[in-house]
This record gives sequence, C-alpha cells and structure tokens, in this order.
Amino acid sequence: LGGSIARALQQMSNATIIDEKVLSDCLNEISRALLQADVQFKMVREMQLNIKRIVSFDELAAGHNKRRIIQKAIFDELCNMLDPGKPSYTPKKGKTSVVMFVGLQGSGKTTTCTKYAYYHQKKGWKPALVCADTFRAGAFDQLKQNATKAKIPFYGSYMESDPVKIAVEGVERFKKENCDLLIIDTSGRHKQEAALFEEMRQVSEATKPDLVIFVMDSSIGQAAFDQAQAFKQNVPVGAVIVTKMDGHAKGGGALSAVAATKSPIIFIGTGEHMDEFEVFDVKPFVSRLLGMGDWSGFMEKIHEVVPTDQQPELLQKLSEGTFTLRIMYEQFQNILNMGSLGQVFSMIPGFNAEFMPKGREKESQARIKRFMTMMDSMTNEELDSSNPKLFNESRIMRIARGSGRSVGEVIEMLEEYKRLAKLWSKMKGLKIPKKGEMSAL
Ligand code: GDP
Ligand code: MG
Repeated sequence: LGGSIARALQQMSNATIIDEKVLSDCLNEISRALLQADVQFKMVREMQLNIKRIVSFDELAAGHNKRRIIQKAIFDELCNMLDPGKPSYTPKKGKTSVVMFVGLQGSGKTTTCTKYAYYHQKKGWKPALVCADTFRAGAFDQLKQNATKAKIPFYGSYMESDPVKIAVEGVERFKKENCDLLIIDTSGRHKQEAALFEEMRQVSEATKPDLVIFVMDSSIGQAAFDQAQAFKQNVPVGAVIVTKMDGHAKGGGALSAVAATKSPIIFIGTGEHMDEFEVFDVKPFVSRLLGMGDWSGFMEKIHEVVPTDQQPELLQKLSEGTFTLRIMYEQFQNILNMGSLGQVFSMIPGFNAEFMPKGREKESQARIKRFMTMMDSMTNEELDSSNPKLFNESRIMRIARGSGRSVGEVIEMLEEYKRLAKLWSKMKGLKIPKKGEMSAL
C-alpha cells in the first residue's frame, strides 16, 4: 500500500509537465490504496474532488516540491474527515457520568469497557462496570474476570434475562456508592438485528447515558458506514472507539464511522491487554492509513533531532529491533539536549499522549531526568541488556540505593523501558530511508 502511494507520487514528480491527467493518474493510484485500506468509496471520491480543487496547477508547474504539495493536501484532507467538528461529551471526575458501550458482537466492547474504566481509574476516577449483556452465555463471567483483575466494582447477574433491568439496577447501585464513571456493557448479537437495536434503545432510554460510545473493529472494512449508521439511528452515539489497531487493518473504516455518527474517535485499542489503549491522535492514524508507515514522521524527526554522527548507528539498531536501556538513555539525552521534548517520541503512536501530555513538558522533562539518574547507577551489563528479566530484586534495590530513588521509581522506569522496547520492536526489519528520501511519504 505505502509502496503504491509513494510510487504514484514519485511518478508524478518525475513528470516534466504537470497537467490534469498526471494529477488524475496520481490521485487514482492513491484512491486505490485508500480503498484497500477500507476507506469508503464515496469518501475517497469526495477526497479526490477536494484535492483537485485545492491543488493549484500554477504552484505545481512552478516547480515547487510536487510530492510535498499533494502529500500535504491528502494528509490534511483525511485529517479533516476524521474531525466531526465538535468534541464528544467528556465525563468530569467526581461528577456522575453514565457511559454506554454499543457495537456488534466481537467488536471488542467488553474488553474496551474495562480498558476505559482502568484508564480512568489510574487517573483517580471511581469507575464501575455494569454487564447488560444477557444474551451471550459467559458475558457476565468475562466482564467479572476483567473487572476483578483491575479491581473495579462490577454488577451483573447469571439469572436475570432482562438487560434493561440489570442496567438500571447497576446504575442505581453505583450512583449510591458514589462512583463517578458508570460504564454499561451491552450485547452485540441477536437473532434479529431489529431486536438488538430495540434492546439498545430500551437500555439507553432507561439509563439516560451521558455518552454512548460506538465500538468498532478496525478490520470490518467497507461495512463500517452502514453499521455505525444503524447504531446512530437507534441510540445517541456520541463517540467512537476503534479496536484491534495492533492487527493488520489500516482502519479506513474509522473515517466512515466518524461520518456516519458525526462523532469523534476518542480512543483506539492496540491489544488484548488492559493497558493496550491509547488516546486517539489524528496524525499517526492518518499516516498509517496512507501506508506511510507509523514511522515515517518518526524517521524524519530522527534526522532532525539526533546528531548526525549518531544517526547511522541508531538507524541500524532500529532495523535490528533491539532496544537496550543504553539506547533509551542516549535518546533521553538527545531529547533533553535539543530541548525539543516530545519531538521524537511524540511521533510514535502510544508514546505521545501518555508519556508527554501536551502542556506538561516540564514534568516530562523532570521525569526523564529522574529516569536517567537511575540509569546512571546501572552497570554496563544492565545498560546493554535488552532483557528486563535481568533486573531481579537485588539489582533493583542496588539501583534504587545508588541513585537515591525508591524501588517503586526504578520499577516505573523499567516498565517504561518495556513499553518502549515493545514499540521499538515493531520497527524490526524496517527499510530505513536515507536522508533526502523522506519526502517519498
Ligand atoms: P464484544 O463481543 O464486543 O464484547 O468483544 P470482546 O470484548 O469480547 O472482544 C472480542 C475479542 O477481541 C476478544 O478476544 C478480545 O480479546 C479481542 N480484542 C478486543 N480489543 C482488542 C484489541 O484492541 N486488540 C486485539 N488484538 N484484540 C482485541
Ligand atoms: Mg461482550
């Protein structure tokens, strides 16, 4: 996919004369790639027309960087399509909010409910989970297991078959217990679709949720629009969560879901585990959609931020996929030296929102310095290792003592390392573009 877009832009920039046909050919090629990424036909068509309108032939003919101009136009256009123009309802900590999850069976609702609860719990909320899926056998057990693992209160029943009754009882109970985020998990399958939507309508009318979240599997393809629209027509969907973004799907269906529900995407699911959950960020998502690779922006930043003499070595290590603590240390150093915190790693999906929230650069910087102090107390063996299991209790205690930090802080640093190493490993085998080749998307 990325290949075909890059090729299309390359061909276009090689053409001596840029006329309507050259641009059309290029856009057709890109459209094919977007269709393959499950972007709806109608939206691809719309994008094509918009770009033809935006891109000025004079500018192209004047020999400006043609690829850049088109690339930017496409990128911006897709970003616009992901922006419904108004933010979703945002629950406030300490105030009761009822959030209802809807979506087809298997889309990831139950998993996502827990992730959503866990995410907020870590930030000091008091979430609670209500299982209003009485349709699928084992639904309550699944939620119960998830909730117990995360130590989140839950409500459900093995006996009761009326989802509306359970939803209402659960919400009432947790309101009394002063929980501030009441999350209702619902069923996704019925013998008849009409019955499912009727059930969703009833649960919604009985519990009056402040927010209804539509959960969508990123791999559902062209069906996304109709599916999202069908839910929106029955319940007041106000936000979208796209799951399974860790798979191969590029997630073009997400554009359809935004269009059909006129609601923003708020989170994405990136794995089966509780913490594999990220605040949605438009730009990395669009990069992925375009097959630019999640990493092209990241690479560009490496060229900008990492000192030239360190680049070949770093890129080599990247393509090997091994991430040692020493590499982490060196990258922290680069980030601090450049005073450009957030620049490099903010390009990596998963790193951005959590590690360096916008407007909190000072705190992040302090955190990085703290991490580095602890790493200063590590041995060479430890720094060059890429095996977190090496860090047994006595090593952790030694590092804590040596750096004057707590054991908890050392563990936090190692957790961060593990997280980064996981992201880093995704780059294994990546073909590294040389400087100057970056513009080819
Ligand atoms: P529900 O039927 O909508 O409640 O869906 P579930 O929450 O039961 O999820 C269905 C399957 O998808 C389960 O095996 C989950 O572990 C899996 N799943 C959910 N979200 C993700 C995700 O973000 N990534 C991956 N890889 N799997 C997920
Ligand atoms: Mg479920």
